[in-house]
Amino acid sequence: DDLSNAYPTHDPEWVRDMHADHYLQSWSKQGSRPRVITGAQGSWFWDSDGKRYLDFQSQLVNANLGHQHPKIIQAIKDQADKLCYISPAMGSDVRSELAAIMNEITPDNITSTFFTTGGSAANETAIRVARHYTGRTKIIARYRSYHGATGGALSLTGDPRHHLTRADMPGIVRMLDPYVYRLPTGHTDPAKCPVAQGGPHLEELLMYENPNTVAAVILEPIVGTNGIIVPPEGYLQSIKATCEKYGILLIADEVMAGFGRTGKWFAVDHWGVQPDIITSAKGINSGYVPLGTMSVSTEIHDWLRDTPLPGGLTYAGHPLACASGVAAIRAMQEEDTLAHATAMGETLRTELHRLAEKHPCIGDIRGKGMFNGIELVKNRDTREPLVPFAAKGDAAKPMNDMMGYAMNNGLYLSFFSNVIRLTPPLNISQEDLMTGIEILDRTLEIAD
Ligand code: PLP
Repeated sequence: DDLSNAYPTHDPEWVRDMHADHYLQSWSKQGSRPRVITGAQGSWFWDSDGKRYLDFQSQLVNANLGHQHPKIIQAIKDQADKLCYISPAMGSDVRSELAAIMNEITPDNITSTFFTTGGSAANETAIRVARHYTGRTKIIARYRSYHGATGGALSLTGDPRHHLTRADMPGIVRMLDPYVYRLPTGHTDPAKCPVAQGGPHLEELLMYENPNTVAAVILEPIVGTNGIIVPPEGYLQSIKATCEKYGILLIADEVMAGFGRTGKWFAVDHWGVQPDIITSAKGINSGYVPLGTMSVSTEIHDWLRDTPLPGGLTYAGHPLACASGVAAIRAMQEEDTLAHATAMGETLRTELHRLAEKHPCIGDIRGKGMFNGIELVKNRDTREPLVPFAAKGDAAKPMNDMMGYAMNNGLYLSFFSNVIRLTPPLNISQEDLMTGIEILDRTLEIAD
């Protein structure tokens, strides 16, 4: 219960007033008066009333090493003393070091990295590179996806947030998702469903779209925000093979799933698939400084030796961000974080199956490593969803009630539609994990 790094500099009521009247909050109607967070440590954070919360979300699935990891903080301080900013065209030790580490931990074919300020900018750059490299314009993206909030990335996004843009980027074609629990074709066996197999569904789209006009397929190898959808065995290989057949690039958006979240450095590693481009952000440095990446294959890198990279940012390769990335990845290697995440993930899913025996509202449990979700239903046999897709307000009441109950009882959870996402820090202790399960157990009673 050491709240010693609390830093109250203002009256919490003043903070709420300013938040409500002068601060614009992402993806929200404005005017909320939130809890004021004054400190955090490991898997916990606390508010101005001294109330503690167990972070079962890792914030926005980015605090992979939890809060206030000393090695990351020290690296940021050391770098701030040495060099806070230098233009992206200059050489800098931390920039080169992080690029070298990315070469080390990404799949073998991926050898060079452009650093961005986050996931959206990484995806923007990826689609521009793909269009430039292939000389084609169309991008195939999936419906149950989130790729970011900037113009192109929001256009790629399939979830209802993309309706907020009045003019989507042209040239986006949508594919259905390998959502095995609710296959869109009515099949129950994924092996018989062309959408769950991947390649056959993509081939059918390409029959109409003309493959020579398609630059890339972009997908989250395991869908994050839109419900932790793990593809069936063979899906990603099948998509990759179909892409190769037509000279289409595969872009893996690993912004949420990357950096150990699934128990491997990247989610594609579970299936041995080598995308042409990988984008990432979030867990690369546990979110302590804004940072994203767009990493490309040797072929694309070689091609970029003769033609300019179609993109650039003032803060590309920001030294403070790169230093924090180097420190976070080295800490994960030194602390064997991937093995711990794999073990804790197995414990978590075992516990979820135990909870499913007493909570009829649990329809499906899915995930890999520390990237997990439970889908809630009104009826397990009919699989009728607990709340409608993308429900808001009254329609989402049971989910909102559960989130409220969990928060009031010290557990920070997140959900989208009828899926509760369970993505604690990768280095959470077994004891803290069990504390979270116990509060979740009580929370689920609301939906039974
Ligand atoms: N791609 C995926 C899969 C994400 O989950 C997110 C953010 O949640 C993004 C892209 C956008 O990243 P950012 O918010 O850093 O721009």
